[in-house]
Parts: sequence; C-alpha cells; structure tokens
Amino acid sequence: MAKSLSPVCKLCRREGEKLYLKGERCFTPKCAIEKRNFAPGQHGRTAGRGKGMGTGRESDFARQLRAKQKARRIYGVLERQFRRYYETARGRHGLTGLNLLQILESRLDNVVYRLGFASSRPQARLLVTHGHFTVNGRRTDVPSMLLGQGDVLTVREGSSKLTYFKDLNVVAEKHNAPAWLSRDVRTMSGAVARMPERAEIDGTLDEQLIVEYYSRR
Ligand code: SF4
Repeated sequence: MAKSLSPVCKLCRREGEKLYLKGERCFTPKCAIEKRNFAPGQHGRTAGRGKGMGTGRESDFARQLRAKQKARRIYGVLERQFRRYYETARGRHGLTGLNLLQILESRLDNVVYRLGFASSRPQARLLVTHGHFTVNGRRTDVPSMLLGQGDVLTVREGSSKLTYFKDLNVVAEKHNAPAWLSRDVRTMSGAVARMPERAEIDGTLDEQLIVEYYSRR
C-alpha cells in the first residue's frame, strides 16, 4: 500500500508549522518545531522553505504549491491520489475546494482520528491497516476508504480485547469528536452523521489555493 515514507517531523519543519502528525508528542517541548523551526537539510537555516520562499516575495505558484503540499502532508496522501481526489471533487456539485476537503475528511483513517480512537492520523492509519476496524460490519484494512453519511465504524470484536482498545476511553477523552460524527466509546463505535461543514475542518488549510494550483496545470 502506498504511503509517504518521510520522517514525519521533517514534514512539519518543511512547512514551518505544526501539522500534528505524532499525537501527544506534538504538544510537548520534544516537538521538532519547538526545538528547531527551520527547514530540514544542509541549507535549512538560510534557504527558506520551497520555491520562491524566504525572499519576501513569494510567488502565486509557491503559495499554491505550499497549500497543496500542506494538505497532502496533514492527511498523509500521495500526489497521485491527491490529484484523483481533486478530480472527483471537481466532478461533484458545489464548491470544488470544499468538496475536496470533505473527501479528505471522509477517509477512514481520518474518521478514526476524528473520533478520538487514535491520537494522530498516522496512528489511525496504522490501526486501520492492522485490521482493527469494521465498517458497516465488514472488516477493512484500507485507510483511504471513503465513508459517507450513515456509515458505522466499530472496533473489531477480536481487537477490542487488546490493551490499547481496553484503554480507549483514556485516548478518546482527550479528543472530542466533531459534531458531524457520533461516537460511543463504550461500544467502541462511531458513525458519520453528515458531511463536515467548512467551519468544522482545519481552518489553516486554504482550499482555494489548492484549486488554483490544479487549475493552472
Ligand atoms: Fe510535527 Fe508533531 Fe513532529 Fe512537532 S512533534 S514536528 S507537530 S509531527
């Protein structure tokens, strides 16, 4: 299964901001952004971040590219799949940018994370690939599976006996589930009540710039 293999903290340093890819560690002084907030690599301290960055006159292209890369890194999606999501979003009714964000949010690994069943998206992805969840009663190990309104996610019966899931309430109580999802920690399950509204999705993402990036290519 394709996935980005870059050490995750480097991704944050490349973006120059926290992307929260390592769960609890992201909120501690051990966070790489807290310790060394400059781009990785030999010239990281002096080169600025990405094409056109660090000059004080960032080009439109550089801003669009950064916006797209940031979203890709937050959701852990490779370029080819991200572009497919964009094409799907474009083919749907409504605003392409919002459609794209809703597709990203409806990924199974993201839903596991949003439900508070994992402390980061990478951890959620791992739990999914290890086959710990069912969707509508069927076991799945595909993190990119897209969920829709009414879909129900449950921790698999065999997995519910594992220490991690026995202590799920400890993880979940630190993470409130958003209103577009319903969850029941006692039964280790959650459901998609509706698609998220824009205000319920990461406000630091700029979907308009992402649309502009793909529109010009
Ligand atoms: Fe990013 Fe978290 Fe690593 Fe900090 S600890 S750099 S927020 S992944």
